[in-house]
Amino acid sequence: MNAKPSFVIVGGGMAGAIAAQTLREEGFDGKITLLGQEPNAPYERPPLSKDYLQGKADRDSIFVHPEPWYAEHAVELSLGSAVTSLDPATRTVTTATGAQLSYDRLLLATGSKPRRLDVPGADLDGVYYLRNVEDSERLKIEFGQAKRVVIIGAGWIGLETAAAARAAGLDVTLLVSGDLPLQHVLGPEAAPIFDELHRSHGVDLRYRATAAALAGRQGMVTGVMLSDGKWIEADMIIVGVGVAPRTELAAAAGLKIDNGIVVDEHLQTSDPDIFAAGDIAHTYNLRLGRHIRVEHWANARRQGVIAAKAMLGQDEVDVRPSYFFTDQYDLSMEYTGDIGPAGYDRVIFRQHSDAREVIVFWLYEQRVQAGMNINIWDVADDIERLITSGRSINADDLADPAIPLTSLF
Ligand SMILES: Cc1cc2nc3c(=O)[nH]c(=O)nc-3n(C[C@H](O)[C@H](O)[C@H](O)COP(=O)(O)OP(=O)(O)OC[C@H]3O[C@@H](n4cnc5c(N)ncnc54)[C@H](O)[C@@H]3O)c2cc1C
Repeated sequence: MNAKPSFVIVGGGMAGAIAAQTLREEGFDGKITLLGQEPNAPYERPPLSKDYLQGKADRDSIFVHPEPWYAEHAVELSLGSAVTSLDPATRTVTTATGAQLSYDRLLLATGSKPRRLDVPGADLDGVYYLRNVEDSERLKIEFGQAKRVVIIGAGWIGLETAAAARAAGLDVTLLVSGDLPLQHVLGPEAAPIFDELHRSHGVDLRYRATAAALAGRQGMVTGVMLSDGKWIEADMIIVGVGVAPRTELAAAAGLKIDNGIVVDEHLQTSDPDIFAAGDIAHTYNLRLGRHIRVEHWANARRQGVIAAKAMLGQDEVDVRPSYFFTDQYDLSMEYTGDIGPAGYDRVIFRQHSDAREVIVFWLYEQRVQAGMNINIWDVADDIERLITSGRSINADDLADPAIPLTSLF
């Protein structure tokens, strides 16, 4: 490497911005170029389906760093710069405008893109996806004009936009592909919490419901035809059917791809000078002994740090359990942990006297794999300790809110 090396980061999201910050914090004094496809400086996405969508947070509050931060830290922020190719042999990236940049070390942090609905009529006007700040702003405007929305998909994005649409006074119909919203994440034991939450707020949930076609008039969507032939009218549709990692660049460059870009515990790809972080990284997790890919905010933050350190030759790894949060109506929850391929064999509810306050634990062979605290704060660290301690836990103790969690690990 040269005396003053050049590091390039592709993708101006959470992972990319935190990596740039960490490089400077760790004393890196070479060149840092952050190439972002969007016109905006890196921002956080969670508010886009929550406070920002509901008009409770202003635009300035969503950015990872204030705009002057980049110049102050000599990070060359190149916005509206989509990288279109990567050549590991010459260590060069090329942008859509034909600009070429060479790197000594490269970080790929290109995130995810929403999966598209693949049914007739999916390209009608009035069909929305939510990934970027502009998507959120468009939805907010549309919420002020529409009366009926159908949301396709009952994952996190579908549920959070349902809550925002109800807050805006819309009639909301939510298409759930299975028996319950979030069933694939929370299982049949805990998913009813979110089912009841949305029903009690007036959302019309349709179970085992899939969209067969969207219909429209003069190019504008007017409703959804379900695969069982039922018809639901709508002024707008929101599609939340998951995301796919943006691995095109890496794949074309010949990097190893398998459910994302395959990286080791230091986030190094199959090319030793190229690293990957955030939603796109299928990371070897030393604690779990397997690769995992996580599409959550905290993972992007943590991996931005780890990737930057690895680019500098440091060997820090992240073995913390995954972490996720959501806010819907008056429910706030944090989820900590990773359910492995073996699944779980027991679910424990630690119910507090206020019926809205509960912690749910998922266990496998008496060891806590994951925990979800709802409307209870300052326990996520304890849940993390319960998981990482690997201790066999007495289920009665776990269920009893009078027994401090701290006494169990
Ligand atoms: C609406 C919404 C709400 C969310 N809410 C939560 C939540 O409550 N809790 C939670 O834990 N997680 C939440 N998430 C998930 C979380 O935001 C993501 O996990 C996180 O943003 C991933 O960060 P990232 O840096 O990997 O990717 P991204 O944030 O997707 O950033 C990647 C960036 O790279 C750019 N890019 C892509 N390709 C190129 C290219 N070729 N050249 C240049 N730039 C490129 C993209 O335009 C994008 O700006 C939410 C996501 C969304 C969309």
